[in-house]
Amino acid sequence: MSWLSVILLFLMSRAHGDPVDPASPAFVFPQGVDPQGAQANDLRQAFKDAIVIARMAALTMNPYCDPVFERYFFPTQLQFVSNVFRTIANIPLDISIEDLNGGLDPAIQAMITSRGLNPTFSLLSISIGNHPDRSPNSGDDCAVDDTDAYLVHSRDNEDAGLISMCTPVWDYPSLSNILNPPAGWENEIGFGCNNLLDRDSDLMTPAGGVLLHELLHWGFLFENEVPNFETVIPLTSGGDHHIRDYLGPPGGIPDTGYGPYNAPLLKNLPPGPYSVTTNNVDNYVYFALSKYWSIQCTKWFAQSTTPSDAFLRNTAWNRYSQPAQPQPQSIGEPQSQPPLKRSIIHDLFGGYHHNSTTYIPVKTRTWKAL
Ligand SMILES: [Zn+2]
Repeated sequence: MSWLSVILLFLMSRAHGDPVDPASPAFVFPQGVDPQGAQANDLRQAFKDAIVIARMAALTMNPYCDPVFERYFFPTQLQFVSNVFRTIANIPLDISIEDLNGGLDPAIQAMITSRGLNPTFSLLSISIGNHPDRSPNSGDDCAVDDTDAYLVHSRDNEDAGLISMCTPVWDYPSLSNILNPPAGWENEIGFGCNNLLDRDSDLMTPAGGVLLHELLHWGFLFENEVPNFETVIPLTSGGDHHIRDYLGPPGGIPDTGYGPYNAPLLKNLPPGPYSVTTNNVDNYVYFALSKYWSIQCTKWFAQSTTPSDAFLRNTAWNRYSQPAQPQPQSIGEPQSQPPLKRSIIHDLFGGYHHNSTTYIPVKTRTWKAL
């Protein structure tokens, strides 16, 4: 299958997650956030981006020696990983992407352009800030520093997923903003294909990538669709099967499975009863993101080379949330700061970056979820 075909397919597909889709998740906005405003639209866009990334991963799954896949997984895991992404993308597991000549099967294109979301997404609710329906005893909280987002199950329906998107997640742009930066951001690191480095990093991550991370934690989405899900993914102490975040011993290499640097290192761990690679969410996320950007940017990205590759995005996008700082400038000096874009967000949800009187420096952070 040619990548051009995939890109065309991608561009021709209708937007997933539109409110008209009966399987659309619910979007929950706290008081003070306009449901039709910019921040609400960013949340909806993040969900669409998560689906697009998963769809791209599903459609470009290459059974013949894919170096990106083998960076994050073992070749024998290809079918399982493919089924996970097809489930998110709502592509039937039992149809071939390619026709007999190795081209894109026209039936696939017709099907994907007409199909909506996986119906299970009707049991998902995504909120800005802590989800109001979560149990206060869940142990997760947007007020905890560094929390980008987290998923818990509903109090009323243990199958239903509740995702809370916390303030730091807005540091991440949309796929579109990374690919086609707004005016003034073209030369900033992390904006445009030429500024994504030559290796996997969190500069590849849009807000929808964080949301994709949380979707991958939602075991109910997969357990009835992905064959052998409950064999590959062990039972958790919470009594369900879901893909987790690897946590290693202190000082271990790696000590966690978070981020583009740690995730490939899990392949080096000694084999256990369950494969660590298929049991760590960011192996899926960064495999998918590396594939996505390799196609959009028509170049390959190498493996991450340093732990700091997981923290490059921290101040790249949301620096506009800082209160205005006096800029020492001489007359005629060109403005070096990118223009402010979305001050509305920090005004409504400050506290982490900005508490209305004091700017709080951005800290290093990791993914958090269940
Ligand atoms: Zn996680």
